[in-house]
Amino acid sequence: MRILLIEDEKEIANFVVNGLRAERFAVDWADSAEKGLAWARLSSYDLGIFDVKLQGGITGIEACRRLRERGIGFPIIILSVMNDAITKVKALNLGADDYLQKPFFMAELIARVRALLRREKKTENPVFKVADLILDTIKHTVIRGDKPIKLNRKEFSLLEYFMRNQGITLTRAMILEHVWDANADPFTNTVDVHIRFLRQKIDDGFKEKLIKTVHGYGYKLEAKPDGPQTAGTGKRQTAKP
Ligand code: CA
Repeated sequence: MRILLIEDEKEIANFVVNGLRAERFAVDWADSAEKGLAWARLSSYDLGIFDVKLQGGITGIEACRRLRERGIGFPIIILSVMNDAITKVKALNLGADDYLQKPFFMAELIARVRALLRREKKTENPVFKVADLILDTIKHTVIRGDKPIKLNRKEFSLLEYFMRNQGITLTRAMILEHVWDANADPFTNTVDVHIRFLRQKIDDGFKEKLIKTVHGYGYKLEAKPDGPQTAGTGKRQTAKP
């Protein structure tokens, strides 16, 4: 899951970026609304966190309005030191999904991020299940059959993205966009390398291989139709590009 953070204060930005990365999100930090708006045009984000008062002419609320005007619909959380009803109502009316007053606890921001992502995916369940593979986004655990699997941060994000889009072919570009941040080099084979490691951990030693190569396109995670039930989250028909 990739998040766009627009925040002009470096200390707060570092706090938020570190907190989100520790929870396995990919984060791009823009220090102005102008920069953030430009990035949002180029990349597809899963969620935005915008500060209201920013250096330069555009506020976080105005940035939100401009994105909605362009038809960009990822959920947005507005951060502000102001706690008056007028600012909150304005933010929500102009397309924000949530509002968090500064200062805030990182745990609360993370909980709101996850709640919005759940709402977006129309699933109440923070646990994803494909065949006998289970990923818990709250406890950060992965189990295949009865074997606990240890994944590093990137592998976990990668598997979560696959599980959210089970049965759907994901191209390398889609995977890079949603699992890596803007610093990723699209011309390396980093996606293939990480998928190879992930496969070793979740598929090696199991009869049914869940990660499949779709030659010429990319990869997908899928259980055999006659295999164990894929319960929990339900299959989604579409993936975000
Ligand atoms: Ca600010």
